[in-house]
Amino acid sequence: MKCKKCNNGVLINDLCNDHFIEYFENIVKKTIKEYNLIEKDDKIIVATSGGKDSITILYLLNKFYNNVEALCIDEGIKGYRSKTLLTLKQFCKEYNIKLNVYSYKKEFGHSLDYFMDLISKYNKIKKLNIKPCTICGIFRRYMINKYSTGFDKSATGHNLDDESQAILMNLLKNQIPILARFGPLTGISNENLFVPRIKPLYFLSEKEILTYSYLKKFDLFYTECPYVPQAFRAEVRDNLNEISKSKTNEIKLNIVNNFLEISKKLKSKYKDTIQINYCTICNIATNKKICNKCELIEKINMVKKECKL
Ligand SMILES: [Zn+2]
Ligand SMILES: [Zn+2]
Repeated sequence: MKCKKCNNGVLINDLCNDHFIEYFENIVKKTIKEYNLIEKDDKIIVATSGGKDSITILYLLNKFYNNVEALCIDEGIKGYRSKTLLTLKQFCKEYNIKLNVYSYKKEFGHSLDYFMDLISKYNKIKKLNIKPCTICGIFRRYMINKYSTGFDKSATGHNLDDESQAILMNLLKNQIPILARFGPLTGISNENLFVPRIKPLYFLSEKEILTYSYLKKFDLFYTECPYVPQAFRAEVRDNLNEISKSKTNEIKLNIVNNFLEISKKLKSKYKDTIQINYCTICNIATNKKICNKCELIEKINMVKKECKL
C-alpha cells in the first residue's frame, strides 16, 4: 500500500513516515489555534513524567515556542520515578530545556512509598480505603498548581484515549459538574486563580503518539507506574478499546466531539455553582472549607497518631 500523499510505503493512517509526522504536528498546531490554547509570547510549563505523552508535548511546544520549561514531580516511587527522571534529565539536556524538579519528600516530608506503606497498615486495621492514585492525584495537582505560578499556561500530555475514557467515566458515574471542567482548556471559572491547563494532544490517540515518539527516536522509559491504576478506569479503557478495535480513532473522536459540542453549555451552567473559598489552613483557592491537600495531610497525621508511628 502506498501513502495517500506520495509514493512511499504506508506506516500508519494511510501515511508514510514523513507524512505521518507532518499530519501529527499539524493536528497539534490546529488544536492550539482552534481552542486558543497559547499566545505567541506565553511562558509555558509542561508537566512531565518522562513518558511518551509528556515527552512528545514537551518536544513539540519547545519546537513551536520560545518560552518553554519542564516540571517534574518526584513522588518517590522506588524503581520507577528515579529511572523516568534520568530519562527526562537527558532529554531536557539534549533539547536545552530547563527542568524543574520538586519532590513529595521536600514538600510533604515523605515519599509516596512511605505514605502508601503507612496507609496500607492502617487500611488493614480500620478498613479505610485510601488508594495510591488518590494521594498522588491530590498531592501532584497541588504541586503542579503551586509550581506553575508565574507561567501563562501549564501543559499536559493528555491524549484522545485519556479524554474519551474520562468523559465516559464521568457520564457513567453521573458526575456532570466534574465533566463540565474537561476540554482542551481545563476549568470553568477559576482560570484567574490557577494557571490555565492546556492539552494540545487532545485529538491524538495513544497509538499515534507512540508512533510519533518512535519515529522521533525519543529515548523513553516504557514501564508503567507500579501502583495499579484505578480499577474502574481500566475497565472503561478495556471496553472502549474493544468497541473501537476496527475503527481506529472514530469512536473515541465521536465521544470527545460530542462532548465538545455541549461543553460550552455545561461550562456556563455549572459556572455559578462553583464557589471559590480560600482554604482555612493554607489559604489556597478551593471550593471547600479545607482544600483536598490539607484534608489529606490531616488524615495522614491522624493515621500516624493512631498507629503511633
Ligand atoms: Zn507520504
Ligand atoms: Zn489547604
